[in-house]
Amino acid sequence: MEKPEITIGFAAELHVFVPARQRGEASAVQVDGVSSLGHVVESLGVPLTEVGELLVDGAAVRPGHVPAAGQEIEVRAFQRPQQLPGPARFLLDVHLGTLARRLRLLGVDTAYENLDIGDAALAARSAAEQRVMLSRDRGLLRRRELWAGGYVYSHRPDEQLRDVLSRFAPALAPWTRCTACNGMLRPATKSAVQERLEDGTERSYDAFAQCGDCDQVYWRGAHHARLDAIVEEALREYA
Ligand SMILES: [Zn+2]
Repeated sequence: MEKPEITIGFAAELHVFVPARQRGEASAVQVDGVSSLGHVVESLGVPLTEVGELLVDGAAVRPGHVPAAGQEIEVRAFQRPQQLPGPARFLLDVHLGTLARRLRLLGVDTAYENLDIGDAALAARSAAEQRVMLSRDRGLLRRRELWAGGYVYSHRPDEQLRDVLSRFAPALAPWTRCTACNGMLRPATKSAVQERLEDGTERSYDAFAQCGDCDQVYWRGAHHARLDAIVEEALREYA
């Protein structure tokens, strides 16, 4: 039996995922008459986490729609800022350590471990803790268990940060979280943290904070200029 043929076109933002022949005008694709549109879109390389509206002959459909012969499909990208089913909390894969520290610097709840626990464990954690899975791994983003997910489009941490902030609009509370472990910071007196400080630090600074989870001590100082710049830019653009 002849396979049904549809035409399918992808928004420009999604061209990074699809084969070259799918990057221009809508083009013909053979389907099997039983697979859902969501499956068809994924099989062409696009994680559904990156997809916004799906239109069939101009009308919005769910990813479960089974495309039929002759239908014209338009696949749109998600809209910024993207609505989530709950607060914007994140889980980052092992390759996104710098982005994890920057999100924590801004007070965004960000889980990250610098060892690879595997896709199945990451997806389960996303579901259990209701965290948005951020990754550049499309296979991971296709996992059905994910609470929510987002592809990280850039290799560069400053672009990655802007991408995530503009996409999910998390609430910002700079200098409230431990960049090492994601724990909450609490103010600490110099005498309380004295034994953990080097001599020069103790002399120069008075404002300290300590992580409630891992006891890491933080203080405001000249070496923070680079971090201050990251915080100021984020607040200016996204607060
Ligand atoms: Zn900590």
